[in-house]
Amino acid sequence: MANENNFAELIAHCKEYGYIFQSSEIYDGLAAVYDYGQNGAQLKKNIRDYWWKSMTQLHDNIVGIDAAIFMHPTTWKASGHVDNFSDPMIDNKDSNKRYRVDHLIEGFAEEQKAAGKEQLAEEILNSMDALLAKDDFAGLKQLIDDNKIKCAISKTCNWTEVRQFNLMFSTQFGATAEAENIVYLRPETAQGIFVNFLNVQKTGRMKIPFGIAQTGKAFRNEIVARQFIFRMREFEQMEMQFFIRPGSQMEWYNFWKAERKKWHQSIGIPVEKLRFHDHVKLAHYADAAVDIEFEFPFGWKELEGIHSRTDFDLKQHQEYSKKKIQYFDNDLDENGKAYGNYTPYVVETSVGLDRLFLTILSLAYQEEKWNKEDGTEDSRVVLKIPAKIAPTKLAILPLLKRDGLPEIARELMNDCKQSFQCFYEEKDAIGKRYRRMDAIGTPFCVTIDHQTKEDNTVTIRYRDTMVQERVALADVKKLVEEKIK
Ligand code: ATP
Repeated sequence: MANENNFAELIAHCKEYGYIFQSSEIYDGLAAVYDYGQNGAQLKKNIRDYWWKSMTQLHDNIVGIDAAIFMHPTTWKASGHVDNFSDPMIDNKDSNKRYRVDHLIEGFAEEQKAAGKEQLAEEILNSMDALLAKDDFAGLKQLIDDNKIKCAISKTCNWTEVRQFNLMFSTQFGATAEAENIVYLRPETAQGIFVNFLNVQKTGRMKIPFGIAQTGKAFRNEIVARQFIFRMREFEQMEMQFFIRPGSQMEWYNFWKAERKKWHQSIGIPVEKLRFHDHVKLAHYADAAVDIEFEFPFGWKELEGIHSRTDFDLKQHQEYSKKKIQYFDNDLDENGKAYGNYTPYVVETSVGLDRLFLTILSLAYQEEKWNKEDGTEDSRVVLKIPAKIAPTKLAILPLLKRDGLPEIARELMNDCKQSFQCFYEEKDAIGKRYRRMDAIGTPFCVTIDHQTKEDNTVTIRYRDTMVQERVALADVKKLVEEKIK
């Protein structure tokens, strides 16, 4: 797995092998915006498809939608984002650098820890949590002053007051630049689900409890955007809102907590690299919230959020739209009385696709060294991406460009490409081609050689073990299909 020391190598590897490029790189890039290359786009799609299938196909009470990025501006008034979607920030007057207050203090606490002052670091973090929970900005400023926290650039303590900055991007809708034409780029996909609650419930004749899932782009004007694709200004979320009876939220909250952790394990994340972190400060809409954290190369960080959102969102949209948003439940309670009309409660699961991508690549990235039989050292960089989500499943490699070997290889390619992603290559020595496939993360390579012409067998090579074995040409497709199931 990638660690703190080789994280820069992982980033370089992503670029070299067509996974991730900086956006508009020829113009020196755009901060915290990234493009996915030919392998990255396929891996991202495979992760998204895996999530989509587990949510919609494997749960008969969850359906998927695809709402627009632009939404009526009142949506964001109702959801609370116009008034509340902000982070406390502070500026250094000498460097003009802006910091998220929690990041500035956390960074300082990390330095104390590294210097052996664990207790002080703990005290500072506890004070910060308590002050953030009370929105006590003067107290946060005092904490920064008392600890003489310095700006990394100017090295001074010359700070402004702590202020709130809204993270939503806005743009003009239509031809005229009037205030009422301002629309926002959605900062979360969830609201597209809430405003469609009645549409989906009625047209799908959905019965509570049921869920609506969605994947799509979200945009946040993150002030401190760093750590590669961990914190981006344009990113993708995979969210599911589960609509339930009021009062049953803790039961479902615990259900989805366990379910989502299991799901992350099913995609190859070891359990010891996952942990729950309860929120100290609850968002304005939540009565319980937890993060599933992953141990990234730069420390434990949020991968997914699970939030019990109460009936806040639906009630707010009802109030702002003046349309009744309720559900009629004709099931009977334990006293034999129908539950009747109510505003459903919601438990949300929200995972960042890009963060999940980074999780999978961090785990997959391995620099391996070993001694060959002749005593010399050999090495490789390999991406051990689980076969079921790897961008390319099978590389088909004729040993030579002649003697009819490419024809056999092409035939195998034509047979397999309907079922899974294949890659064909006939250039370079076979060892070099294997290394390249290791670096891209292709789990299986098949080599067609002269023996193939004699007995219809091929060499299959397994990426993770580098073991090679001879199998029947006719069995290759079935063999790969079984491994990627
Ligand atoms: P953080 O505390 O890291 O800013 P958050 O609590 O604001 O995250 P949520 O609003 O709960 O995040 O969003 C749900 C998920 O969306 C997160 O768990 C994360 O995976 C993803 N996400 C949020 N912001 C970003 C971002 N700027 N870049 C990439 N992914 C993001």
